[in-house]
Amino acid sequence: KAKALGGNRRTFYSEEMVDAVTRKLAVELALRHALEQEEFQLYYQPQIRSCDGKLVGVEALIRWRTGEGELVSPGEFIPLAEETGLIVPIGEWVIRTACCQAVSWQCGGKADFQMSVNVSPRQFQEPDFVHRVSAILEETKLSPECLVLEITEGISIQEEERTVAMLTALKEIGVQISMDDFGTGYSSLSYLHRFQVDSLKIAQSFIGGIFNSSSQAAIVKAILAMAGSLNLKVIAEGVETKEQFEFLQANGCDWIQGYYFYRPLTKEQVERLL
Ligand code: C2E
Ligand code: MG
Ligand code: MG
Ligand code: MG
Repeated sequence: KAKALGGNRRTFYSEEMVDAVTRKLAVELALRHALEQEEFQLYYQPQIRSCDGKLVGVEALIRWRTGEGELVSPGEFIPLAEETGLIVPIGEWVIRTACCQAVSWQCGGKADFQMSVNVSPRQFQEPDFVHRVSAILEETKLSPECLVLEITEGISIQEEERTVAMLTALKEIGVQISMDDFGTGYSSLSYLHRFQVDSLKIAQSFIGGIFNSSSQAAIVKAILAMAGSLNLKVIAEGVETKEQFEFLQANGCDWIQGYYFYRPLTKEQVERLL
């Protein structure tokens, strides 16, 4: 296309580039609009304790219900929200909404019910992130230990000192920290220790591979054994079959999350379960 536009001369902006920029601007506008028009919605995927099948918590997962009624998954807009910085207000909305929801479910009788929320690296970079979380806890009156912030290994590589300081401050206000998608990034034991995480979530890709690959099964067993000796709680995500569940249960995995038990549910669906 660049050639068509510029003949044999070098052109700096191909049609594709212009399209990409235009699309990005359009998405940014649409995301801003979505936030103002309250088009975001949280789904909640139940987490099950593997020893007795008890419902012990949920993970909040964002969806975008567009004006046209289409349901857009986070994989499609979170990266753009990150790039544009809009993840900061969107993420704050997620935390506040999830905390309010947790309080209302706890008042319904589930006192120790845990609410997990995904926090993206960009949100974490905000200097006042800890302050904002703390303000939301005060405002909603949720007990801090019921809120679990899921971070990914991606936050850790740059600015490790700062990350440690932030996580220490978050621990001080009493929230829990979970390492999401464990095993896919730069996971190292020293990180888990330095970051004082309370739990880790074994990445879905490992769970899917348990019965296809003996090395994946060995990795899952090793993660469970290691976490056990470090006193870390382990959550397996993406559990889709009875066999996977039984393997995890037999190897001491504490909590299970996956389609085998429940898909992400609307708040009304969770209420029917509780
Ligand atoms: P994640 O935090 O690792 O969430 C787990 C994803 O796996 C969810 O996809 C969930 O619906 C899906 N899942 C759960 N069980 C199964 C299963 O048995 N099989 C399969 N195939 N998939 C399963 P979802 O909701 O599309 O979210 C994708 C990612 O988007 C999340 O991965 C998380 O990284 C991000 N995300 C979602 N909500 C938020 C949010 O509020 N804030 C931020 N920053 N990121 C979010
Ligand atoms: Mg997560
Ligand atoms: Mg995950
Ligand atoms: Mg993730």
